[in-house]
Amino acid sequence: MTDAVRPIEVRAAPGVRAVFTTRAGGVSVGSHAGLNVGSTSGDTPDDVRENRARLAAALGVDADRVTMGHQVHGADVHAVDGPTSPGRYLGELSGWAEGDGLVTRAAGLPLMVLGADCLPVLLWRTDGSAVAAVHAGWRGLVAGILRNAVEALGGEVGVAVGPGVRPCCYPVDAELRRTFADRFGDETVTGDAVDLAAAARIELVRAGVADDRVETTGACTSCDAERFFSYRRDGERTGRQAGIIWRDA
Ligand SMILES: [Zn+2]
Repeated sequence: MTDAVRPIEVRAAPGVRAVFTTRAGGVSVGSHAGLNVGSTSGDTPDDVRENRARLAAALGVDADRVTMGHQVHGADVHAVDGPTSPGRYLGELSGWAEGDGLVTRAAGLPLMVLGADCLPVLLWRTDGSAVAAVHAGWRGLVAGILRNAVEALGGEVGVAVGPGVRPCCYPVDAELRRTFADRFGDETVTGDAVDLAAAARIELVRAGVADDRVETTGACTSCDAERFFSYRRDGERTGRQAGIIWRDA
């Protein structure tokens, strides 16, 4: 209970901070145990508020300015220049404008996406002038959300692909395996599984990102129950971890 919030911070551009949350440091219990920051899978709203407040405090960001999207597994990336719904992060929690990707040039505007197997992907201009956060599951990847995010940023881009389900725990049907092989290449299919992170890297490089500017965290959300929530492992009522990126104010 006294555990500290322990996000994974990645090295981004000057003046840009990019983090992925873990379960450590939260107050939620049961199937949401730990730092669940998602509000749509049945957790107690006040626990989610407390978790989100602790996260904002640990990161040193203004909770009223945190901006999220109502994730629908789409490919749209929306540009924002200020908090789209001030206070919702700790207030109503959900009800954000629809969209799985956010991009901004504004400073002090944390963009946050949620996942529980789907990849949270954080992107930045290497000159630090703009940042983007993307929720990328298989649908979003196939629909091209990462390409859209790179195009929205423009210029030279760096990327951190966050914790998601890995091929060890992601068997899918033959149709989806064929879709991945056709769309991203045979190397994104291993046995009866597809590799979301490999597909993400291929898509990013195709979109013009240098291969050595794509960093992937090695964790499988389903294997690492101590640190991560996983829909595949725990079902519908599992919690959500987050990816958050912002330009320092
Ligand atoms: Zn695994």
